[in-house]
Amino acid sequence: VPVVPQGTRTGLAGGAAALDGALVLCLERMDAILAIDPVDRVAVVQPGVVTARLAAAVAEHGLFYAPDPASAETSTIGGNIATNAGGMRCVKYGVTRDAVRALELVLADGRVLRTGTVTAKGVAGLDLVGLVVGSEGTLAVVTEATLALLPAPGPTRGVCATFPDVASALATVRDILAGPHTPSTLELLDSVVVGAIAAYDEDAGLPRGAGALVLALTDAATGGEQDVAAYEAAARRHGALAVQVEDDPARVDGLLRARRAYQPAMKALRGDSLNGDIAVPLSRLPELVGRLRALSDEAGLPIGTGGHVGDGNLHPVVAFDPADAGERRRARAAYEAFGRIAIALGGTATGEHGIGLERLDVVATELGADLVGLQRAVKAAFDPAGILNPGKKY
Ligand SMILES: Cc1cc2nc3c(=O)[nH]c(=O)nc-3n(C[C@H](O)[C@H](O)[C@H](O)COP(=O)(O)OP(=O)(O)OC[C@H]3O[C@@H](n4cnc5c(N)ncnc54)[C@H](O)[C@@H]3O)c2cc1C
Repeated sequence: VPVVPQGTRTGLAGGAAALDGALVLCLERMDAILAIDPVDRVAVVQPGVVTARLAAAVAEHGLFYAPDPASAETSTIGGNIATNAGGMRCVKYGVTRDAVRALELVLADGRVLRTGTVTAKGVAGLDLVGLVVGSEGTLAVVTEATLALLPAPGPTRGVCATFPDVASALATVRDILAGPHTPSTLELLDSVVVGAIAAYDEDAGLPRGAGALVLALTDAATGGEQDVAAYEAAARRHGALAVQVEDDPARVDGLLRARRAYQPAMKALRGDSLNGDIAVPLSRLPELVGRLRALSDEAGLPIGTGGHVGDGNLHPVVAFDPADAGERRRARAAYEAFGRIAIALGGTATGEHGIGLERLDVVATELGADLVGLQRAVKAAFDPAGILNPGKKY
């Protein structure tokens, strides 16, 4: 009998969608925080713990859980592990994989395994933790996780700069990343997205006319002022139209809230939208932006882009009128082209959200037959009867 593991079903690729005749195994109520150890600097949790709850619990011990998907208030640690979730802080702290030390797993035949080490170092075995992270519930069910914690960071502060065009915004990003002042968040919004957010939420305070916007934040415990000064200088060097320097927590939160309005604002443009999740090497970002603009002209539909530019991970969004069959069809074609463009530029069709059911079309193109074959052999080693989340991911 097929088994579909589920967290809180916030996944954006259909990985947790039920299948006909399957058992849905919902881990939501395995939600105990079993230990927070300030000496070993780890937390041990069950998979149903909601990410923000863990972050708040470790903060009480002066510690920090770095992974921060925008869904942190609703998604679970188990879901984050199964999708190797990213977020806005990855440019400094990496993705969920970088915080997972050890896992307890239930295999498809019912065996319970522990893999990984509590210590940061440990090379006795193959990296099965790495295999399971991002496997979207197809290899094993995660029933416990040992997660690395960091010392609490400093206050978040930074710069929101607008530019006449995306090229100058990307030049600023390049300068910031090449320097010693590593940001904790580095986000880009192009003119379509800035305009959409300005129209969607007038209180967001975003200027409608800007060609692009960069948000560069630091959470350094020491030297934060120098970081902010470096971001401001980079923006001015590349012709910023306006540079807003913020250290007031409420106003920094306001900027992050405006950034989070990206997808709903794009959806509101024409009634519906399809959201991409591509990543390319940083050197290919200018080309990517150009290709997306050409795709928008070809589709005759607005495509806004932006996102985690410091990771090369952009979320292009095509907006369309759901009542118009022609727009629906053209939007779908543009959405599918996002992945092909990213792959052609040496990147990936999905940086964060995963394959699930939604992006099965790109697996063969991106990975090729040999890798797909190897992945299926790994799947067969974990789950010979193929009962865990069948038909997804590969
Ligand atoms: C508003 C919003 C913002 C988002 N922002 C981000 C973001 O910034 N970054 C990002 O990466 N994603 C983001 N997401 C996507 C989503 O939140 C993540 O993929 C998240 O990790 C899914 O967690 P979940 O608990 O909802 O898992 P589910 O959606 O329930 O499941 C996701 C996958 O994990 C598997 N799974 C779940 N639990 C287990 C388990 N214990 N063992 C084995 N497999 C399991 C499921 O089978 C499925 O394949 C966002 C989603 C929304 C709605």
